[in-house]
Amino acid sequence: MRVVHKFGGTSVGSADRITATAKLIQRTAPSEETIVVASAMSGVTNQLVEACRLASSGNCDEALSIVRSIVAEHREAASRLGTSVVVIDECVTLLDKVETLVRAAAVIGWVDERSSDWIQCVGEKLSVRLLADRLRSTGTPAIAIDADTFLDTDSNFGAATPLQGLYERGVRNALEPALAEGLVLVVTGFCGRAGDGSTTTLGRGGSDYSATLLGAALNADSVLIWTDVSGVYTADPRVESGARVVPQLNYREAGELAYYGAKVLHPRTLKPVAGVGIPVEIRNSFEPEDPGTLIDRGITPGSHPVKAISAIRSHSLVSIEGTGMAGVPGVAARLFGALAAADISVTMISQSSAESSICVAVPASDANAAEMAIRREFRLDIAHGDVEDVRRVPSVGLIAAVGLGMANVPGISGRVTSTLGKAGFNVLAIAQGSSELNITFAVSDSDVDESVRALHAEFGLHQVDTGDAEADAFDIILLGWGNIARELAELVSRRNPEIERRFGVRGRVVLISDRSGFLLRPSGIPLMELKDAVTQKAAGNSVSSLPGSLRGSLSDAVDAARSYRLVRPVLVDLTDGSGSEALFEKAFDAKWDVVTANKKPLASAPEAYDALLASAARAGRTLRAEATVGAGLPVVDTLDMLLVTGDSLVRADGCLSGTLAFVLGQVEAGEKFSDAVREAHRRGYTEPDPYADLSGADVARKSIIISRIAEFSVPLERVEVEGLVPPELEGLPLETFFEKLTELDDTVAERARSARAAGKVLRYVGQVLSDRIQVGPLEVPIESPLGRLAGTDNMIVFHSDRYSNTPLVVQGPGAGVDVTAMGVLGDIVRIVAERS
Ligand code: ADP
Ligand code: ASP
Ligand code: MG
Repeated sequence: MRVVHKFGGTSVGSADRITATAKLIQRTAPSEETIVVASAMSGVTNQLVEACRLASSGNCDEALSIVRSIVAEHREAASRLGTSVVVIDECVTLLDKVETLVRAAAVIGWVDERSSDWIQCVGEKLSVRLLADRLRSTGTPAIAIDADTFLDTDSNFGAATPLQGLYERGVRNALEPALAEGLVLVVTGFCGRAGDGSTTTLGRGGSDYSATLLGAALNADSVLIWTDVSGVYTADPRVESGARVVPQLNYREAGELAYYGAKVLHPRTLKPVAGVGIPVEIRNSFEPEDPGTLIDRGITPGSHPVKAISAIRSHSLVSIEGTGMAGVPGVAARLFGALAAADISVTMISQSSAESSICVAVPASDANAAEMAIRREFRLDIAHGDVEDVRRVPSVGLIAAVGLGMANVPGISGRVTSTLGKAGFNVLAIAQGSSELNITFAVSDSDVDESVRALHAEFGLHQVDTGDAEADAFDIILLGWGNIARELAELVSRRNPEIERRFGVRGRVVLISDRSGFLLRPSGIPLMELKDAVTQKAAGNSVSSLPGSLRGSLSDAVDAARSYRLVRPVLVDLTDGSGSEALFEKAFDAKWDVVTANKKPLASAPEAYDALLASAARAGRTLRAEATVGAGLPVVDTLDMLLVTGDSLVRADGCLSGTLAFVLGQVEAGEKFSDAVREAHRRGYTEPDPYADLSGADVARKSIIISRIAEFSVPLERVEVEGLVPPELEGLPLETFFEKLTELDDTVAERARSARAAGKVLRYVGQVLSDRIQVGPLEVPIESPLGRLAGTDNMIVFHSDRYSNTPLVVQGPGAGVDVTAMGVLGDIVRIVAERS
């Protein structure tokens, strides 16, 4: 076996990483011929490039200070690795020469391309020396070899190309003898040798290319590219957190992805090996056991026509347009001829079907030159009016949807355009290769990330099965982003350490939503982003204004989240909206559990309620609703406990509205009714619409929920509700509503007074009996439990078979943001405990 291993910058980025990499090589080195291609320590090439730039603009001191920090970084690594003196001396010589060149460049104000390429390769030369020395000192015979001594390329400094048909011999002559001696060869990536012997570079990120070049020339059995991620993902994992590793890619698929910006592979990586069929594996040097991605001739059939999405930024579109061009042969040929003559390579071509426009995408840095070349070529056509204009759109990104499976699936490009259209992005140009392996399209640079995410979701790429072990987490899908939702999100993150200690899992909020739209991050909204979302909403901005959010209804939000493989998902309804039943159905259908603080779905028509319970049961899922009655108070739990242990409820009487308790308490203390309501609203006790409290609807819903949990069946005509306000006040704007309340001040005050006169107090009570529910103001004895209640406290008095002489009373604060969030978290944690 002959294997080329390539290690990226992070795999040799420190003494510890070099140690780990040496160990990784030593696992297989004894039984195979090993060629190792190494990059510079991470960040070092960038620093060298920057030092050149600074020096040539005369900033000698800054340039030298960068060189010094490179020296320090390598010294530190060498001393921790115990690098031999000889090798340290070699490194010092290299860095001294960098310093000399940098000083010279600073004096004359420029650096030539030969020196620049030589300087840029020093990072690789240093790291191969440290790594080879480490291998030797831990028992593996190894040598460091600089590729600029044998890898023949053209003289295109900065982005050189190996001389096909010639370079192979140079590689074999240089490396075969050492391989035959059983040495591990540690070769610099990224660099080569021009005809005159000077050092060239293969373009940034070019070490991947070096590895496959060596693999092809040496006829290796495989090339392993070790990096800092576990393979080629369905999209850049930094852009799409739900991206997954693609287990296998065909050379052509991987080639397209690399060409269109998937940084994990240099664009030309697959060229040398695709023809000869040497397999390439992308593996994670931090997680060497992860299977990674295999790139070979195979084609994985499957349900996903699109396998991955990649994106490349900083391009410009240049187009020529004109009806005079239609049917005129050779326009395209002249256009490309002009660009080629100006040495500009075209990343994408798109032609409208009427042939009245041709549009090319070129790197932004070439856009000026491209426009000039085209204007020159078509100057006569422009003068004659055959070409109307040469136009340029700056700052575009190109996105490629790649997959051999799309060849047989019609309508992919339609899905791309409609998905992006729906998300509000404008597709500026679109091109589909004749092989139907990819669709490429241009969007504004600022829309790139969002477009990638939208397409990733559209093509279901987060569901690509990676065989990942399930995370130690539970995912929270939050409907509503009001006070309670925000408090809950913060509470979850505060309580996570304790939850993890007890149950071994941590909560992740994966979706937040409001009427405007939703923000979905399938592996959890990062804390900073969540905090920002809290601040934004508190400042009056809706969820759809957050970066990365999508517009859509709650139902769209649930659908979007359902397309991901979430972990122990719990849907949490913190809205006060109607129609949540349908969302709960979707949740159960996706095997999610549901927690609701929204009373409406549980107080809806009996058939709807029964249907909901039936779907939960069918799906084997749980529906919990503690926070619907008495906020965090254990009302539902207590009742459940009574029933499950064989008790049966006779009746329940409850003061179940913190708002009404507060309001009536204030009236009793001499306040005006209308002022008391205003104050309750100001303190956040009321429902968003205070009419829901004052009409009795809120207490009625809670009473119905209790009656349903007790399994009483009470028909609608036996539910009597007497509100504190007449129905005419429903739906009024808040201010008008408060105004109108003043007309009731005297009546309510009078009722309170007359109760007092009879030695009683006025309470707003929900009475739940087995065959009837009565909700309304009620005079109760001062000395009764309900009579003694004060403030916003809630109370429920259960009379049951077992608790017949003295009732079971649950009392405490029953409204407010913190206790409600607590009740909801309690429900979530109970579910998680069941599922962990
Ligand atoms: P190395 O130094 O090992 O060559 P690079 O930084 O050049 O590593 O490439 C790896 C990085 O490529 C990953 O950390 C990841 O952020 C980025 N990347 C972009 N697109 C993809 C993709 N589709 N799959 C995997 N990684 C990607
Ligand atoms: N060190 C070089 C770069 O940063 C080559 C590589 O990492 O592949 O571009
Ligand atoms: Mg790279």
